[in-house]
Amino acid sequence: MEHLKAKIRTIPDFPKPGIMFRDITTLLKDGEGLRESIDVLAKRYQDQQVDLIAGIESRGFIVGAALATQMGIGFVPVRKPNRLPGETIGIDYELEYGNDRLEIHVDAIPQGSRVLMVDDLIATGGTMNAACHLVENVGGEVVECAFIIELPDLGGRKVLSNYPVFSIVEFEGD
Ligand code: AMP
Repeated sequence: MEHLKAKIRTIPDFPKPGIMFRDITTLLKDGEGLRESIDVLAKRYQDQQVDLIAGIESRGFIVGAALATQMGIGFVPVRKPNRLPGETIGIDYELEYGNDRLEIHVDAIPQGSRVLMVDDLIATGGTMNAACHLVENVGGEVVECAFIIELPDLGGRKVLSNYPVFSIVEFEGD
């Protein structure tokens, strides 16, 4: 997958000093790169009886909705606070510096649905772990957590040890 990795741009010191930001906009604007990324995921999951895709705001919406369309299944947004209009439940989780919160509609997922979790990137795993708990709390069963990019040095797989994890490319060293 080196050719896909080569389409992802790195911006040093964004959004703050010391962070190497892995920017997927350069992959998304490349028609072949975008299609191949979605195809890799669709092929992996097409025979796994996935009922729904849950994507995390906001880059998880882009990847997740494209994948849902390709697989012919529905998409559920997991959002930042106070953005969903219906009744929600939320979960607070810790970031490296400070806290954050994610929310989901309480009626988003039919009981027992098999849900594929999608985001653009796994760093520490805290964001995805919180999203998985939310999906389980409203009745879903997590099939796997799928990402385009993994930063293996940050140990996200350990945080997500309750769930299978898949990523298309890895950036080591940060
Ligand atoms: P984490 O909860 O630490 O796994 O962080 C994952 C979330 O933060 C994802 O939604 C990513 O989009 C974003 N993120 C964290 N680190 C980076 C990075 N180095 N480059 C781009 N996005 C990042």
